[in-house]
Amino acid sequence: MSPSSNSSGLDPLELSQALIRCESVTPIDGGAQGVLARALTPMGFVCHTLSFSAPDTPDITNLYARLGTGAPHFCFAGHTDVVPVGDRTAWSADPFAGEVKNGQLYGRGAADMKGAIACFAAAVARFLAKREKAFAGSISFLITGDEEGPAVNGTVKMLEWAKQRGEVFDACLVGEPTNPTTLGEMMKVGRRGSLNVRLIVNGVAGHVAYPHLADNPCHRLVEMLAAITRDRLDEGTEHFQPSTLQISSIDVGNPTTNVIPAKAEARINVRFTDAYDSKGVERWLRERFDRVGGNYDLVAQVSGESFLTPPGELSRTVAAAVTRVTGRTPELSTSGGTSDARFIKNYCPVVEFGLVGETMHKADERMPIADIATLADIYEAILDDFFSAPR
Ligand SMILES: [Zn+2]
Repeated sequence: MSPSSNSSGLDPLELSQALIRCESVTPIDGGAQGVLARALTPMGFVCHTLSFSAPDTPDITNLYARLGTGAPHFCFAGHTDVVPVGDRTAWSADPFAGEVKNGQLYGRGAADMKGAIACFAAAVARFLAKREKAFAGSISFLITGDEEGPAVNGTVKMLEWAKQRGEVFDACLVGEPTNPTTLGEMMKVGRRGSLNVRLIVNGVAGHVAYPHLADNPCHRLVEMLAAITRDRLDEGTEHFQPSTLQISSIDVGNPTTNVIPAKAEARINVRFTDAYDSKGVERWLRERFDRVGGNYDLVAQVSGESFLTPPGELSRTVAAAVTRVTGRTPELSTSGGTSDARFIKNYCPVVEFGLVGETMHKADERMPIADIATLADIYEAILDDFFSAPR
């Protein structure tokens, strides 16, 4: 533990517990953002509560807090909302009590990701205590209550709001749990994209005994699906595992034995590398469908483009801090599902590093209190290095 860790008066374990005690299951805030704002305000942060709404989605409360007005500006992004507890009887502790047992902090959000938010707040407090008035840059918290939900009234709208105010971000660290089993083993520098596709093959219905009078869409659908599962999109790229394509459903719904149906449909999901954008994936699919020919409709919906923050100053700063504190060299990974970093990447370089994700979204979500202390040290080291780098 760093010698200054107790001098700032902000203990990352205590703040983690206070956050866990707020029942902030999406879309409810449960007082969580108020707890954070009350920790940040005495340090000099100016806090903005941002409520957004949209049709067919719940209203969401978000928190943007910034300290300082100068550059460079380092942003920490995350979420105070948590997933539901699930089966309460599967928990050995109250999921909202913030209890410590056998050196572990139990509670929904301990890993994903109230613990990381508390660690960053504690790191900022220590960083400021060391610098006193000599600090000329800016540090901000971009905290949504809508990460585990539809993600409509959260990070996307906060970023637009910030842009309209003239806020400029130079770097962003997302505190999602990135480590599979051990703190320090992995950070995320990008994510694969995800595209959902509905393929509807249109034919002409008819009697099975008179196929020359019909056009069987099932036969063409089978050929189209064979073509896209035979060919590979790519073999992976420098920082990405190969793109993958999965057929998730094939539907005809024909109850008869003697009718050629008029339509056949399939659903497909593609997880794609930085070799493609979603339009490129769509072109790749259409090329193969067109070779089979005939009439078809394709409805494509992108849930996230692939992105990569090329290894550079930010990833080097984070990796070096992780190594200095833990002795481990983090892998620069793009694995896993998507995160709000997919929105932030349009504004500034973004990487993700947080706690160990092993118990996230499960019963008995928990975190060794030693990891919470270590993550606060890592975040402090990141701030030290980022703001002392020559520019
Ligand atoms: Zn999360």
